[in-house]
Amino acid sequence: MVATPLLPLEAATPAHICPFDQACSYLEAAAKELKLDQGLLEILSHPRKVVTVSIPVKLDNGEIRVLAGHRVQHSDILGPYKGGIRYHPAVTLREVSALAMLMTWKCALLGIPYGGAKGGIALDPKQYSVRELERITRRYTSELIKDIGPSVDIPAPDVGTSAREMAWMMDTYSVNVGHAVPGVVTGKPLSVGGSRGREMATGRGTMIIVREALADQGKTLAGVRVVIQGFGNVGGAAAELLHEAGAKIIAVSTSTGGIYSEQGLDIAALKAYATANHKSVVGFPQALPISNADLLTLPCDVLIPSALENQITKENVSQVQAKIIAEAANGPVTLEANQALEARGVIVLPDILANAGGVVVSYLEWVQGLSYLFWDEERVNREMEHLMVHAYRQVIQHSKTRQISLRLAAYTLGVGRVAQALNDRGLYP
Ligand code: GLU
Repeated sequence: MVATPLLPLEAATPAHICPFDQACSYLEAAAKELKLDQGLLEILSHPRKVVTVSIPVKLDNGEIRVLAGHRVQHSDILGPYKGGIRYHPAVTLREVSALAMLMTWKCALLGIPYGGAKGGIALDPKQYSVRELERITRRYTSELIKDIGPSVDIPAPDVGTSAREMAWMMDTYSVNVGHAVPGVVTGKPLSVGGSRGREMATGRGTMIIVREALADQGKTLAGVRVVIQGFGNVGGAAAELLHEAGAKIIAVSTSTGGIYSEQGLDIAALKAYATANHKSVVGFPQALPISNADLLTLPCDVLIPSALENQITKENVSQVQAKIIAEAANGPVTLEANQALEARGVIVLPDILANAGGVVVSYLEWVQGLSYLFWDEERVNREMEHLMVHAYRQVIQHSKTRQISLRLAAYTLGVGRVAQALNDRGLYP
């Protein structure tokens, strides 16, 4: 793949697990399918702006620690940069860059007027107190103050962050510019201009896409056997909504381990258990323990990896038994695993479609804020469902017409729209 001059800080990890190289490979495949001009491909292969900042923080015990924070702005061809902020020990600049690129294609695929960005701090949030996390978030925001804004770059929650961090970011930005600016972030608490339905949005979007894929096979969600890796903001919401719709959730996991029940799990009871058990599902009564690795290879109808990238790899793909995989996480299936699954006829609902519900409701939150008019949850869900189903239909149609996989179809639609806009806007100067 082409060189990445803006990513000089870290050596690339081996190609098969480097998320940025994988993202570039998907882009290359889409460019080939689109017969994209080499120069346009070259532009789209590079993030437009990469910011790395030092975040000095005073811990509660008085000690000073310096963390590295990133914000990668991949493209603003279609509108302001948009994408989450990740707090996780495995955050690297290359990972954030890959995720920023995915956001560009995701927003374009869903037809929402945004570019793509991502941010992250390499830290384990569990190792810090709430006050420390607040100081880290505020310092990170103030370091990025010139790079974000409601018409420039709009952060949102991602792995390890939530409405709480967004409220701190909004407050820090607002205090610095001298007036309240709710539109600088999305995924905020309702009290400061958040949208109804945002918390459940990514999981709801995944449920909708799975439901549509089953409907295309003449099936409904009733009785479908589902395995979910992750039980946080995304996996937890997907579990709840799928369960409500009649699906049987037979296994779920968190980073500490998983649980399995052939009869199906009681999701409401499990949610209450996890809340009281430091967000872990381990030890839930009436279920057997299962490792994260074994969970991925359970026989089931639908597998929903909703944690981190690179979970289904060339090492374990031959044991995966699911008939449908919905990528609620970003990049959970590696390139090689994806090829093996496609060859076996497994339906892989790609991340930029299957987890787009979050950014779609972020967009609806931003629109509500800009128009000073807030909707009830029913309207938010309806508008989101409309955009999700529309994008799903386009991907299915494109995949059929061009005889290509759903992933390539989704990427081709996303990349094609950005390339078209780039072409129409022309190159400055
Ligand atoms: N972090 C989420 C994603 O990867 C949401 C981004 C957003 O709402 O801007 O899609």
